[in-house]
Amino acid sequence: MSALAMFRALRNRASPVFSSPYLSSHVASIPKFISTLILAEHEDGAIKPSSLSAVAAAGALSEGNSISILLAGAGPSLEEAASHAASIHPLISQVLVANTDKLRYPLAEPWAELVHLVQQKGGYSHIIAASSSFGKNILPRAAALLDKSPITDVTDISGPQLFVRPIYAGNALCTVRYTGGDPCMLTIRSTSFPVPSVSDDSKSNAATISQVDLSTFNEDAVGKSRYVKLTSQDTERPDLGNARIVVTGGRALKSAENFKLIEKLAEKLGAAVGATRAAVDSGFVPNELQVGQTGKIVAPDLYMAFGVSGAIQHLAGIRDSKVIVAVNKDADAPIFQVADYGLVADLFEVLPELLEKLPEKK
Ligand SMILES: Cc1cc2nc3c(=O)[nH]c(=O)nc-3n(C[C@H](O)[C@H](O)[C@H](O)COP(=O)(O)OP(=O)(O)OC[C@H]3O[C@@H](n4cnc5c(N)ncnc54)[C@H](O)[C@@H]3O)c2cc1C
Repeated sequence: MSALAMFRALRNRASPVFSSPYLSSHVASIPKFISTLILAEHEDGAIKPSSLSAVAAAGALSEGNSISILLAGAGPSLEEAASHAASIHPLISQVLVANTDKLRYPLAEPWAELVHLVQQKGGYSHIIAASSSFGKNILPRAAALLDKSPITDVTDISGPQLFVRPIYAGNALCTVRYTGGDPCMLTIRSTSFPVPSVSDDSKSNAATISQVDLSTFNEDAVGKSRYVKLTSQDTERPDLGNARIVVTGGRALKSAENFKLIEKLAEKLGAAVGATRAAVDSGFVPNELQVGQTGKIVAPDLYMAFGVSGAIQHLAGIRDSKVIVAVNKDADAPIFQVADYGLVADLFEVLPELLEKLPEKK
Protein backbone atom coordinates (compact mmCIF):
# COMPACT_ATOMS: atom_id res chain seq x y z
CA MET A 1 0.00 0.00 0.00
CA SER A 2 1.43 3.42 -0.93
CA ALA A 3 1.93 6.04 1.74
CA LEU A 4 -0.93 8.14 0.32
CA ALA A 5 -3.31 5.19 0.13
CA MET A 6 -2.39 4.47 3.74
CA PHE A 7 -3.13 8.10 4.63
CA ARG A 8 -6.57 7.83 3.09
CA ALA A 9 -7.30 4.57 4.88
CA LEU A 10 -6.22 6.06 8.21
CA ARG A 11 -8.21 9.23 7.59
CA ASN A 12 -11.28 7.10 7.05
CA ARG A 13 -10.60 5.58 10.42
CA ALA A 14 -9.76 2.13 9.18
CA SER A 15 -9.22 -0.44 11.86
CA PRO A 16 -5.68 -0.48 13.20
CA VAL A 17 -3.24 -1.65 10.60
CA PHE A 18 -1.18 -3.58 13.10
CA SER A 19 -3.26 -5.62 15.42
CA SER A 20 -2.60 -9.17 16.36
CA PRO A 21 -4.93 -11.95 17.49
CA TYR A 22 -2.49 -12.37 20.38
CA LEU A 23 -3.59 -8.98 21.68
CA SER A 24 -7.31 -9.65 21.73
CA SER A 25 -6.85 -12.95 23.55
CA HIS A 26 -5.23 -11.08 26.44
CA VAL A 27 -7.75 -8.27 26.86
CA ALA A 28 -9.34 -10.06 29.78
CA SER A 29 -6.69 -8.98 32.30
CA ILE A 30 -8.46 -5.79 33.36
CA PRO A 31 -7.54 -4.19 36.67
CA LYS A 32 -10.36 -4.36 39.22
CA PHE A 33 -10.51 -0.68 39.94
CA ILE A 34 -9.69 2.07 37.48
CA SER A 35 -8.72 5.44 38.88
CA THR A 36 -7.11 8.09 36.73
CA LEU A 37 -4.99 11.11 37.47
CA ILE A 38 -5.04 13.82 34.78
CA LEU A 39 -2.06 16.16 34.63
CA ALA A 40 -3.86 19.34 33.69
CA GLU A 41 -2.75 22.64 32.23
CA HIS A 42 -4.54 25.86 33.07
CA GLU A 43 -4.47 29.37 31.71
CA ASP A 44 -6.29 32.54 32.80
CA GLY A 45 -8.22 30.63 35.47
CA ALA A 46 -9.53 27.90 33.17
CA ILE A 47 -8.52 24.36 32.24
CA LYS A 48 -7.06 24.17 28.74
CA PRO A 49 -9.17 22.28 26.17
CA SER A 50 -6.35 19.78 25.59
CA SER A 51 -6.54 18.76 29.27
CA LEU A 52 -10.31 18.34 28.89
CA SER A 53 -9.58 15.94 26.04
CA ALA A 54 -7.51 13.96 28.53
CA VAL A 55 -10.68 13.74 30.67
CA ALA A 56 -12.56 12.40 27.64
CA ALA A 57 -9.80 9.82 27.13
CA ALA A 58 -10.01 8.80 30.79
CA GLY A 59 -13.76 8.34 30.34
CA ALA A 60 -13.01 5.88 27.52
CA LEU A 61 -10.87 3.67 29.79
CA SER A 62 -13.83 2.17 31.60
CA GLU A 63 -17.21 3.07 33.01
CA GLY A 64 -17.07 4.18 36.62
CA ASN A 65 -13.50 5.41 36.28
CA SER A 66 -12.71 7.68 39.21
CA ILE A 67 -11.04 10.73 37.66
CA SER A 68 -8.87 13.21 39.56
CA ILE A 69 -7.43 16.36 38.05
CA LEU A 70 -4.01 17.55 39.22
CA LEU A 71 -3.37 21.29 38.97
CA ALA A 72 -0.30 23.16 40.10
CA GLY A 73 0.88 26.72 40.30
CA ALA A 74 0.35 29.70 42.51
CA GLY A 75 -1.91 32.71 42.82
CA PRO A 76 -5.60 33.45 42.29
CA SER A 77 -5.74 32.03 38.75
CA LEU A 78 -4.92 28.59 40.21
CA GLU A 79 -7.93 28.79 42.53
CA GLU A 80 -10.14 29.89 39.64
CA ALA A 81 -8.85 27.03 37.50
CA ALA A 82 -9.59 24.59 40.37
CA SER A 83 -13.22 25.82 40.54
CA HIS A 84 -13.45 25.55 36.77
CA ALA A 85 -12.10 21.98 36.84
CA ALA A 86 -14.48 21.00 39.64
CA SER A 87 -17.54 22.07 37.68
CA ILE A 88 -16.59 21.30 34.11
CA HIS A 89 -17.68 17.68 33.82
CA PRO A 90 -19.48 15.08 35.96
CA LEU A 91 -16.76 12.50 35.21
CA ILE A 92 -14.35 14.45 37.41
CA SER A 93 -14.64 13.38 41.03
CA GLN A 94 -11.74 15.25 42.59
CA VAL A 95 -9.49 18.22 41.91
CA LEU A 96 -6.07 18.14 43.55
CA VAL A 97 -4.34 21.49 43.87
CA ALA A 98 -0.60 21.87 44.47
CA ASN A 99 -0.26 25.50 45.45
CA THR A 100 3.37 26.53 45.60
CA ASP A 101 5.67 29.01 43.94
CA LYS A 102 7.98 26.11 43.03
CA LEU A 103 5.31 24.91 40.59
CA ARG A 104 4.39 28.29 39.17
CA TYR A 105 5.94 27.31 35.84
CA PRO A 106 5.46 24.00 34.02
CA LEU A 107 9.03 22.72 34.37
CA ALA A 108 9.54 18.98 34.08
CA GLU A 109 11.65 18.41 37.22
CA PRO A 110 9.31 19.78 39.92
CA TRP A 111 6.20 18.58 38.11
CA ALA A 112 7.58 15.02 37.81
CA GLU A 113 8.39 15.11 41.52
CA LEU A 114 4.82 16.23 42.23
CA VAL A 115 3.35 13.40 40.13
CA HIS A 116 5.57 10.93 41.99
CA LEU A 117 4.34 12.28 45.33
CA VAL A 118 0.65 12.26 44.34
CA GLN A 119 0.91 8.75 42.86
CA GLN A 120 2.48 7.40 46.06
CA LYS A 121 -0.50 8.69 48.03
CA GLY A 122 -3.26 8.05 45.49
CA GLY A 123 -2.18 4.74 43.89
CA TYR A 124 -3.82 5.57 40.56
CA SER A 125 -4.13 2.88 37.91
CA HIS A 126 -3.66 5.42 35.09
CA ILE A 127 -1.98 8.79 34.65
CA ILE A 128 -2.88 10.79 31.52
CA ALA A 129 -1.70 14.05 29.99
CA ALA A 130 -2.40 15.58 26.59
CA SER A 131 0.36 15.30 23.96
CA SER A 132 0.99 19.04 24.22
CA SER A 133 4.39 20.59 24.94
CA PHE A 134 3.34 20.44 28.62
CA GLY A 135 2.46 16.72 28.61
CA LYS A 136 5.38 15.70 26.42
CA ASN A 137 7.72 17.56 28.75
CA ILE A 138 6.43 16.24 32.05
CA LEU A 139 4.98 12.77 31.64
CA PRO A 140 8.12 10.93 30.42
CA ARG A 141 10.15 12.30 33.33
CA ALA A 142 7.43 11.39 35.82
CA ALA A 143 7.28 7.91 34.23
CA ALA A 144 11.02 7.51 34.72
CA LEU A 145 10.67 8.44 38.41
CA LEU A 146 7.89 5.86 38.75
CA ASP A 147 9.91 3.30 36.74
CA LYS A 148 7.20 2.93 34.08
CA SER A 149 7.30 2.96 30.31
CA PRO A 150 4.85 5.59 29.00
CA ILE A 151 2.67 5.06 25.94
CA THR A 152 2.65 8.25 23.91
CA ASP A 153 0.37 9.86 21.32
CA VAL A 154 -2.57 7.54 21.96
CA THR A 155 -5.36 8.07 19.41
CA ASP A 156 -7.83 5.40 20.52
CA ILE A 157 -8.55 3.41 23.67
CA SER A 158 -9.83 -0.13 23.23
CA GLY A 159 -9.71 -1.07 26.92
CA PRO A 160 -7.95 -0.12 30.14
CA GLN A 161 -4.72 -1.68 28.88
CA LEU A 162 -5.15 -1.62 25.11
CA PHE A 163 -4.24 1.50 23.17
CA VAL A 164 -3.88 2.58 19.55
CA ARG A 165 -1.10 4.95 18.51
CA PRO A 166 0.39 6.05 15.18
CA ILE A 167 3.83 4.87 14.09
CA TYR A 168 6.05 5.53 11.04
CA ALA A 169 5.09 9.24 10.87
CA GLY A 170 1.40 8.38 11.02
CA ASN A 171 1.60 5.88 8.15
CA ALA A 172 0.34 3.02 10.30
CA LEU A 173 -1.50 2.47 13.53
CA CYS A 174 -0.18 0.13 16.17
CA THR A 175 -2.20 -1.51 18.93
CA VAL A 176 -0.27 -1.70 22.19
CA ARG A 177 -1.12 -3.74 25.23
CA TYR A 178 0.26 -2.41 28.50
CA THR A 179 1.62 -4.96 30.95
CA GLY A 180 3.81 -2.82 33.21
CA GLY A 181 1.66 -2.55 36.35
CA ASP A 182 0.16 0.55 37.93
CA PRO A 183 0.26 3.30 36.96
CA CYS A 184 -0.19 3.01 33.21
CA MET A 185 1.03 6.36 31.88
CA LEU A 186 -0.30 7.84 28.65
CA THR A 187 -0.14 10.95 26.55
CA ILE A 188 -3.16 11.32 24.28
CA ARG A 189 -3.67 13.24 21.05
CA SER A 190 -6.33 15.76 21.96
CA THR A 191 -7.64 15.84 18.36
CA SER A 192 -8.70 12.20 18.80
CA PHE A 193 -10.68 12.81 21.99
CA PRO A 194 -13.20 15.63 21.48
CA VAL A 195 -13.69 17.97 24.42
CA PRO A 196 -16.65 16.80 26.50
CA SER A 197 -19.56 19.23 26.50
CA VAL A 198 -20.31 21.17 29.66
CA SER A 199 -23.84 20.76 30.94
CA ASP A 200 -25.46 22.99 33.52
CA ASP A 201 -26.38 19.91 35.57
CA SER A 202 -22.72 19.06 36.03
CA LYS A 203 -22.15 22.44 37.67
CA SER A 204 -24.39 21.50 40.57
CA ASN A 205 -22.42 18.25 41.05
CA ALA A 206 -19.09 19.99 41.58
CA ALA A 207 -16.15 17.73 42.36
CA THR A 208 -14.28 18.10 45.64
CA ILE A 209 -11.23 20.35 45.68
CA SER A 210 -8.35 19.24 47.91
CA GLN A 211 -4.93 20.72 48.53
CA VAL A 212 -1.97 18.39 47.93
CA ASP A 213 0.10 17.94 51.09
CA LEU A 214 3.47 19.27 49.96
CA SER A 215 5.28 18.75 53.29
CA THR A 216 7.33 15.92 51.72
CA PHE A 217 7.71 17.59 48.31
CA ASN A 218 11.35 17.31 47.25
CA GLU A 219 12.32 20.89 46.53
CA ASP A 220 15.81 19.77 45.50
CA ALA A 221 14.19 18.55 42.30
CA VAL A 222 13.77 22.18 41.37
CA GLY A 223 16.73 23.77 39.69
CA LYS A 224 18.09 21.87 36.70
CA SER A 225 15.99 23.82 34.25
CA ARG A 226 15.00 27.44 34.58
CA TYR A 227 11.92 29.23 33.31
CA VAL A 228 12.96 32.23 31.24
CA LYS A 229 9.81 33.64 29.63
CA LEU A 230 6.70 32.83 27.68
CA THR A 231 6.55 34.32 24.20
CA SER A 232 3.30 34.00 22.34
CA GLN A 233 1.79 35.71 19.33
CA ASP A 234 -0.35 38.68 20.30
CA THR A 235 -3.30 37.58 18.23
CA GLU A 236 -7.01 36.96 18.56
CA ARG A 237 -6.85 34.06 16.15
CA PRO A 238 -8.02 30.68 17.44
CA ASP A 239 -5.46 28.23 18.75
CA LEU A 240 -4.08 26.10 15.91
CA GLY A 241 -4.58 22.83 17.78
CA ASN A 242 -8.31 23.44 18.41
CA ALA A 243 -9.40 25.66 15.50
CA ARG A 244 -12.47 24.77 13.43
CA ILE A 245 -10.85 26.23 10.30
CA VAL A 246 -7.13 26.21 9.46
CA VAL A 247 -5.61 28.09 6.52
CA THR A 248 -2.09 26.86 5.70
CA GLY A 249 0.56 28.24 3.40
CA GLY A 250 3.57 26.47 1.96
CA ARG A 251 6.92 27.35 0.45
CA ALA A 252 5.15 28.65 -2.66
CA LEU A 253 4.24 31.85 -0.78
CA LYS A 254 7.89 32.84 -1.29
CA SER A 255 8.18 35.47 1.46
CA ALA A 256 6.89 36.61 4.86
CA GLU A 257 5.31 39.59 3.10
CA ASN A 258 3.33 37.32 0.74
CA PHE A 259 2.37 35.06 3.65
CA LYS A 260 0.19 37.95 4.88
CA LEU A 261 -2.29 36.86 2.18
CA ILE A 262 -2.78 33.65 4.19
CA GLU A 263 -3.11 35.64 7.42
CA LYS A 264 -5.72 37.95 5.87
CA LEU A 265 -7.77 35.02 4.64
CA ALA A 266 -7.57 33.40 8.09
CA GLU A 267 -8.77 36.65 9.63
CA LYS A 268 -11.79 36.83 7.34
CA LEU A 269 -12.70 33.20 8.06
CA GLY A 270 -12.01 33.35 11.81
CA ALA A 271 -9.42 30.64 11.17
CA ALA A 272 -6.04 29.69 12.60
CA VAL A 273 -2.93 30.04 10.44
CA GLY A 274 -0.76 27.01 9.70
CA ALA A 275 2.42 26.53 7.71
CA THR A 276 4.51 23.75 6.25
CA ARG A 277 7.98 23.10 7.55
CA ALA A 278 9.40 24.53 4.33
CA ALA A 279 7.55 27.80 4.99
CA VAL A 280 8.78 27.86 8.60
CA ASP A 281 12.36 27.01 7.62
CA SER A 282 12.26 29.79 5.02
CA GLY A 283 11.44 32.23 7.82
CA PHE A 284 7.98 33.24 6.59
CA VAL A 285 6.33 32.47 9.96
CA PRO A 286 7.40 31.26 13.41
CA ASN A 287 7.93 27.62 14.21
CA GLU A 288 4.81 27.38 16.41
CA LEU A 289 2.64 27.51 13.24
CA GLN A 290 4.15 24.37 11.71
CA VAL A 291 1.66 21.62 11.01
CA GLY A 292 2.73 18.01 10.61
CA GLN A 293 4.76 15.19 12.04
CA THR A 294 7.19 17.52 13.80
CA GLY A 295 4.70 20.35 14.20
CA LYS A 296 1.12 20.62 15.45
CA ILE A 297 -1.52 17.97 14.87
CA VAL A 298 -4.77 19.60 13.73
CA ALA A 299 -8.29 18.28 13.23
CA PRO A 300 -10.41 21.18 11.93
CA ASP A 301 -13.75 20.98 10.14
CA LEU A 302 -12.06 22.73 7.20
CA TYR A 303 -8.35 22.60 6.26
CA MET A 304 -7.27 24.91 3.41
CA ALA A 305 -3.81 24.35 1.93
CA PHE A 306 -2.26 26.91 -0.45
CA GLY A 307 0.94 26.00 -2.27
CA VAL A 308 1.45 22.89 -0.15
CA SER A 309 2.86 19.84 -1.95
CA GLY A 310 1.40 17.31 0.50
CA ALA A 311 4.56 15.61 1.78
CA ILE A 312 3.75 12.64 4.00
CA GLN A 313 5.25 14.42 7.03
CA HIS A 314 2.79 17.27 6.51
CA LEU A 315 -0.15 14.92 5.97
CA ALA A 316 0.68 13.22 9.29
CA GLY A 317 -0.60 16.36 11.02
CA ILE A 318 -3.89 16.80 9.14
CA ARG A 319 -5.25 13.26 9.05
CA ASP A 320 -8.30 14.04 11.20
CA SER A 321 -9.39 17.13 9.20
CA LYS A 322 -12.99 16.72 8.08
CA VAL A 323 -12.72 18.56 4.73
CA ILE A 324 -9.43 19.31 2.97
CA VAL A 325 -9.26 21.99 0.27
CA ALA A 326 -6.05 22.37 -1.76
CA VAL A 327 -4.87 25.01 -4.21
CA ASN A 328 -1.73 24.10 -6.13
CA LYS A 329 -0.57 24.94 -9.61
CA ASP A 330 0.81 21.43 -10.15
CA ALA A 331 -2.03 19.03 -11.00
CA ASP A 332 0.16 16.10 -9.93
CA ALA A 333 0.90 17.46 -6.44
CA PRO A 334 0.29 14.68 -3.86
CA ILE A 335 -1.99 16.96 -1.82
CA PHE A 336 -4.69 16.46 -4.47
CA GLN A 337 -4.79 12.75 -3.68
CA VAL A 338 -6.04 13.48 -0.17
CA ALA A 339 -8.03 16.67 -0.85
CA ASP A 340 -11.83 16.65 -0.87
CA TYR A 341 -11.78 19.75 -3.09
CA GLY A 342 -8.81 20.67 -5.29
CA LEU A 343 -8.13 23.68 -7.48
CA VAL A 344 -5.25 23.62 -9.98
CA ALA A 345 -4.38 27.29 -10.00
CA ASP A 346 -1.85 29.93 -9.05
CA LEU A 347 -2.35 30.92 -5.42
CA PHE A 348 -1.31 34.48 -6.22
CA GLU A 349 -4.45 34.74 -8.36
CA VAL A 350 -6.78 32.71 -6.13
CA LEU A 351 -5.98 34.34 -2.78
CA PRO A 352 -6.58 37.99 -3.86
CA GLU A 353 -9.82 36.93 -5.55
CA LEU A 354 -11.00 35.07 -2.45
CA LEU A 355 -10.09 38.03 -0.24
CA GLU A 356 -12.03 40.39 -2.47
CA LYS A 357 -15.14 38.22 -2.54
CA LEU A 358 -15.29 37.32 1.14
CA PRO A 359 -17.00 39.84 3.44
CA GLU A 360 -15.07 41.44 6.32
CA LYS A 361 -15.38 39.53 9.59
CA LYS A 362 -17.73 41.34 11.97
C1 LIG B 1 11.82 14.09 9.70
C2 LIG B 1 11.03 15.09 8.92
C3 LIG B 1 9.99 15.72 9.54
C4 LIG B 1 9.23 16.66 8.83
N1 LIG B 1 8.17 17.27 9.45
C5 LIG B 1 7.39 18.10 8.75
C6 LIG B 1 6.25 18.71 9.34
O1 LIG B 1 5.95 18.55 10.53
N2 LIG B 1 5.48 19.52 8.57
C7 LIG B 1 5.76 19.76 7.24
O2 LIG B 1 5.01 20.52 6.60
N3 LIG B 1 6.85 19.22 6.68
C8 LIG B 1 7.67 18.41 7.39
N4 LIG B 1 8.77 17.90 6.79
C9 LIG B 1 9.17 18.40 5.45
C10 LIG B 1 8.38 17.75 4.33
O3 LIG B 1 9.05 16.57 3.91
C11 LIG B 1 8.31 18.71 3.11
O4 LIG B 1 9.61 19.08 2.73
C12 LIG B 1 7.51 19.99 3.36
O5 LIG B 1 6.25 19.65 3.92
C13 LIG B 1 7.30 20.71 2.03
O6 LIG B 1 6.67 21.93 2.25
P1 LIG B 1 5.88 22.66 1.08
O7 LIG B 1 4.77 21.78 0.65
O8 LIG B 1 5.57 24.02 1.57
O9 LIG B 1 7.00 22.86 -0.04
P2 LIG B 1 7.24 22.16 -1.41
O10 LIG B 1 7.37 20.69 -1.25
O11 LIG B 1 8.36 22.90 -2.05
O12 LIG B 1 5.91 22.40 -2.23
C14 LIG B 1 5.48 23.64 -2.70
C15 LIG B 1 4.23 23.39 -3.54
O13 LIG B 1 3.71 24.62 -3.96
C16 LIG B 1 3.28 24.51 -5.30
N5 LIG B 1 3.34 25.85 -5.88
C17 LIG B 1 4.43 26.57 -6.24
N6 LIG B 1 4.10 27.81 -6.66
C18 LIG B 1 2.75 27.86 -6.58
C19 LIG B 1 1.80 28.88 -6.87
N7 LIG B 1 2.18 30.08 -7.31
N8 LIG B 1 0.49 28.60 -6.70
C20 LIG B 1 0.08 27.39 -6.25
N9 LIG B 1 0.94 26.40 -5.96
C21 LIG B 1 2.26 26.64 -6.11
C22 LIG B 1 4.22 23.53 -5.95
O14 LIG B 1 3.58 22.90 -7.05
C23 LIG B 1 4.48 22.55 -4.80
O15 LIG B 1 3.57 21.47 -4.81
C24 LIG B 1 9.54 16.96 7.48
C25 LIG B 1 10.61 16.29 6.86
C26 LIG B 1 11.35 15.38 7.56
C27 LIG B 1 12.47 14.68 6.88
